[in-house]
Amino acid sequence: MGKQRFLVIGGGPAGLSAALDLHDAGMDVELVEKESFLGGTPKKLHYSLIAPDLKPVEEVLDPLIKKVEGAGISRKLNTTVSSATIRDGVVTVKYASSDGKQAGGGDFDAVILATGFTHWDPHKKYEYGYGLYPDVIDFKDFEAMLSSDRLERPSDGKMPKRIGWLLCVGSRDRQVGKFYCCRLGCAVSIKQAMEVKKRHPEIDTYVYYMDIRTYGFWEDQLYWKSMEEYNVKFIRGRIGAISRGENGSLIAMAEDTILQRPSEVPFDMLILTTGMEASSGTVEMAKLFGVDIEEHGFVKPLQADSMPVHTNVDSVFVAGTATGPKAIPDAITEGSAAAMKAMNFVRRKVPLVA
Ligand code: SF4
Repeated sequence: MGKQRFLVIGGGPAGLSAALDLHDAGMDVELVEKESFLGGTPKKLHYSLIAPDLKPVEEVLDPLIKKVEGAGISRKLNTTVSSATIRDGVVTVKYASSDGKQAGGGDFDAVILATGFTHWDPHKKYEYGYGLYPDVIDFKDFEAMLSSDRLERPSDGKMPKRIGWLLCVGSRDRQVGKFYCCRLGCAVSIKQAMEVKKRHPEIDTYVYYMDIRTYGFWEDQLYWKSMEEYNVKFIRGRIGAISRGENGSLIAMAEDTILQRPSEVPFDMLILTTGMEASSGTVEMAKLFGVDIEEHGFVKPLQADSMPVHTNVDSVFVAGTATGPKAIPDAITEGSAAAMKAMNFVRRKVPLVA
């Protein structure tokens, strides 16, 4: 009997961790990634420092990537899965290359979907002027700016004197059909403000919020620290609209719900903290493998409380942000969990779904 074969789809934090753990356990693994590199969205969008230890993303992910590359795991970059069938416990897939050509395929005993998320498109919140005002950017673009250590106002290249963050853009917002919390936006925005203050203490930083959701240790490591050590200021209230002010500034019009009065504050740059939604790859793979989608558009775990990496399809497992917003360490942990559950399933071949 040959080695048991596993397919991992997606080379971000969860997929890397799943592939490596399967390989370390002596399994035969193939890792498929649609981009030309490994590391997923954090690498693609050039994230800067990762909360809470403020380590560069390379320091967090590169060791994992190097291990996967060094282990000799079969890697198919610039590749997607174009068809899938599951018969008698055998998962048969075909691949397509990035230019749409057929690119082989294979038979596997189990599959792990680690197909990730995408940032919500802030164009849909037109009142914030994203795409209209060059100095309104979203927090993934600001992350890339911090990562390249090039803090400048997009409209004229000048150093900003006052920067504001607007939390919950495309999250917790029934008007745009996004009811859920992105879990990470508060933490990442506060971390960004701290990064700005650390490099340029003279820049004023304001965070507009409805409530702050820096869960767990992040409350202490980021929220309180940002105020006490970095002088980041917080305004409770949601910006209703953004307009152009004098000398190229932007005016944020909001209701300050603590002072209970309207406020209009000029900024040099405004950062929109956009929410997370399922990536197109996640939705496509769910359809291809017949995996259920939950009400927010992510993959539905078989049981969200006790079987978070199983799906409704016996041979198909899931990890990372394919099932919803999640931090990088959680995605890495889920990758390992999915690897373990997939191995247990394949060894015993006991159907999970009656
Ligand atoms: S994590 Fe913060 S920014 Fe994101 S939706 Fe929740 S409250 Fe809003």
